Amino acid sequence: MSAVPVSSANHHDFPHTPNPVFENSPTFRMACRQLDAVAEVIDVDKGVLQRMSVPKRALVVSIPVRMDDGRTEVFTGYRVQHSLTSGPSKGGLRYHPSVDLGEVAALAMWMSWKCGIMNLPFGGAKGGIGVDPAALSRGEIERLTRRFTEEVLNVIGPRMDVMAPDLGTDEQTMAWIMDTYSMKIGYACPEVVTGKPIELGGCVGRREATGRGVTYCILEAMKELNLRPSESTAVVQGFGNVGSVACQELARNGVKIVATGDRYGAIRNLKGIDVAALTRHVAEGKLLKDFPNAEEISPADLFTTPCTVLVPAALERVVHKDNATKLRCRILAEGANGPTTPEADELLADSGIFIVPDVLCNAGGVTVSYFEWVQDIQQFLWTEDEVNQRLKELMLRAFHQVRTLARERKLSMRTAGLSLGVQKIAKEKMRRGLYP
Ligand code: NAD
Repeated sequence: MSAVPVSSANHHDFPHTPNPVFENSPTFRMACRQLDAVAEVIDVDKGVLQRMSVPKRALVVSIPVRMDDGRTEVFTGYRVQHSLTSGPSKGGLRYHPSVDLGEVAALAMWMSWKCGIMNLPFGGAKGGIGVDPAALSRGEIERLTRRFTEEVLNVIGPRMDVMAPDLGTDEQTMAWIMDTYSMKIGYACPEVVTGKPIELGGCVGRREATGRGVTYCILEAMKELNLRPSESTAVVQGFGNVGSVACQELARNGVKIVATGDRYGAIRNLKGIDVAALTRHVAEGKLLKDFPNAEEISPADLFTTPCTVLVPAALERVVHKDNATKLRCRILAEGANGPTTPEADELLADSGIFIVPDVLCNAGGVTVSYFEWVQDIQQFLWTEDEVNQRLKELMLRAFHQVRTLARERKLSMRTAGLSLGVQKIAKEKMRRGLYP
């Protein structure tokens, strides 16, 4: 098959054949470049590589919503299932204005590798709606969520595709999806989503799991570098689910949070931000940037503030060729998905910065989602100690597997992590063979 031309400023020789439906998106091209880099260091069948370079299934839906003022507005929603080889697909649902098919497809691919690294019986998926949830009322968001669920009903289910919260969605969003799905099938089906409220079959510790997993990785990386948490500082971009919990957990372990920010602005206090007070401040509905005991800084300054650990925990492609050489951290712990572009990766290669790649660093969320799914199916309830203990065990095991491979094969942590994930799916595809 000849290569399909793609309109891309970054066109390069793809080991796989690019698919123009997805590869007009810079985020999807980035995911494919990473896959190609992996294909250069592991032995992977060409046909399997080709199958893994595109999603298994992608659904685009129009979602008409009756707005509070009586108008009808139509939103666009996506659900992309990258792989169904290892079990049901699993992945978050994101509400953000910039969501498009390519971005969701990239995030779905990364979920496959992440589940592979963690050895979970899931493939990767992702969903999203192009919407700014802050501009909608609660009622509008509920109607949007329920209608989206209805539109994707044929491709979701506890054995087919299981959603979870992501950027701009939360446990209430999952409750509405669970309710809509359950009303359609006629009985309560908590296992159709994870990251639900505890009273609907949610798992204790799920909300905190991603930030906790990020922290386990950071503490492990600090051991490698002989750094003491009590003498270390952190800068965290994003103060939502992942960012706020990462701040809290790092602070609990003695790390001083010196700067943080969200979509409305950023703040810094080199003596350390009181994270508990900031959490209360934000919970009261006040803007993070108005927090009294810190100076407001430009959001771009988050990346150049000297610190031990930098945690991007908001959007993708925030560490790029223009700021990569200006980072002043020892560890870059990727709480967000896809925060570092391949160009930035190349610039960081010899910088001495220890990168904990997203597919490993933020895998705590999907890991506890797996615990939640298992408990729902078996109607078991684990304690928070059990959940945290098992999470820590799996995170540390994965961290050391990636670290060992990186060291043995002289690979970057990212290529090593992706190799483990890609290889697991590739092996399963080879074993299952090609139907028919
Ligand atoms: P969230 O919606 O709870 O929080 C997002 C935060 O990012 C908010 O503080 C928001 O204000 C901030 N933000 C948005 N736009 C910004 C901008 N332009 N500049 C600076 N900050 C901005 O989302 P989340 O669940 O914490 O997800 C954050 C990242 O972590 C995403 O990349 C997501 O895919 C990834 N992630 C989340 C989970 C999870 O369990 N929630 C798991 C794995 C990975």
